[in-house]
Amino acid sequence: MIKSKNPYTGEIIGEFKELTKPEIEKALEAGDNRFKSWRKTIFKERAELMMNASKELKKNKQEYAEDITMEMGKPITQAIAEIEKCAWVCEYYAENAEKQLAAKTIKTDAVKSYVSYEPIGVVLAVMPWNYPFWQVFRFAAPALMAGNIGVLKHASNVMKSANNIQKVFERAGFPKDCFQNLVLSSSKIENIIRDKRIKAVTLTGSKPAGSAVSSVASEEIKKSVLELGGSNALVVFKDANIDETVKTCVQARFQNTGQSCIAGKRLIVHESIEEEFTEKFLKQIRELKSGDPMDEDTFIGTLARLDLAEDLETQVQDSVKQGAKILLGGKRDKTYFEPTVLGKVTSDMKIFKEETFGPAIGITTFKTDQEAIDLVNMSEFGLGVSLFTQDLDFAEKLCPEFEDGAVFVNELVKSDPRLPFGGTKISGFGRELSEDGIREFVNKKTVYLN
Ligand code: NAP
Repeated sequence: MIKSKNPYTGEIIGEFKELTKPEIEKALEAGDNRFKSWRKTIFKERAELMMNASKELKKNKQEYAEDITMEMGKPITQAIAEIEKCAWVCEYYAENAEKQLAAKTIKTDAVKSYVSYEPIGVVLAVMPWNYPFWQVFRFAAPALMAGNIGVLKHASNVMKSANNIQKVFERAGFPKDCFQNLVLSSSKIENIIRDKRIKAVTLTGSKPAGSAVSSVASEEIKKSVLELGGSNALVVFKDANIDETVKTCVQARFQNTGQSCIAGKRLIVHESIEEEFTEKFLKQIRELKSGDPMDEDTFIGTLARLDLAEDLETQVQDSVKQGAKILLGGKRDKTYFEPTVLGKVTSDMKIFKEETFGPAIGITTFKTDQEAIDLVNMSEFGLGVSLFTQDLDFAEKLCPEFEDGAVFVNELVKSDPRLPFGGTKISGFGRELSEDGIREFVNKKTVYLN
């Protein structure tokens, strides 16, 4: 039995029976059969259904958001914002998929030659709990619009949300089995990836999970997209607008109670402004309201599971043993972790080297631009980096120096349906969202007529 436990109250709020072997077989067969008709639907029909999904999300956002909050402790206002963002990605692909996948004529010696972008079949999505709806919708909206079928293996602690997502597509009127949630633990995933009806897999999660899933996919010569962890740097140059930068950095680290892959996790500040920056940063963090995630005023909820809070505690304590100084917070009470800031952080400390998945951040200083670049690139992760400076020409010149999948200037790294999203190094490969995302799971077919 897979259980959902409210991390704030400790209450079990749902129990979900794992699918049996025959039930898995039935689900994969149904998805494969559905593909035969779904792939032939025209874009207009798919777009109407996807717009319905958007409407459904907006109409029942409170219901879906409350389940998210109860399952993983996300403050309710942030859960509602997540549902609204899902509605946006549905609209975005409803409006853009047809032109993004329009055949591209290429002039050759042939009478006619072109590339057509065709669906491939059933795609498996293995997803994490931190944005239980958003992570799934940013896969599902382009996949379905491209004519593919989706099957979901969601994180074990958010199965209620997983079922709700299937419900959204059913309520929107999608044909049965276009999108199915499979209630399964991760031990069952290998066989599913190997099944001939699964054509590709996308995973958002940790490096071990990504490595396990993509190794099996590679053995079967199936494509995978991996969106893994991150340890984004927030680099504050000496000419930055400090008040604005502080505001953005607080959001970048503490929204979703710090449990975001693209959160700013390493503050890299020019030594000349360290004092002023730190003072203002700490002041704003002290004002963040912690409490019941169901309370509309709460900004910092609990972590999603006890083990995650314990892991963060170890990372913070070990960094302190290595010489970091606690400037704020540092304590844990069950699943709640105080917003925490460490000073005097160096690149050998856990809080700098490892991904921290919660409300804690370390401050490291730099003297020269090259030193800042080296500190950013030192990480084995490569999701994104934020630069803060008032000199946009300077920032743009620096952009090619960074090894990450994204550079944002005077803004936190965020996902946007219109922009490609993905990482380098152990943050994964492949892209989601935008035209790049919808083209990941299609057969780019060369057609040559002579
Ligand atoms: P996780 O433990 O890797 O779990 C992610 C998903 O993979 C879950 O559905 C999990 O199922 C499944 N899974 C785990 N081990 C597996 C295995 N060996 N084979 C098949 N499936 C397996 O990660 P998490 O704790 O849920 O999420 C946190 C991580 O995700 C962080 O590193 C974070 O940075 C990353 N993340 C990345 C992005 C991005 O876009 N790059 C976005 C969000 C989160 P069970 O729950 O049943 O174990």
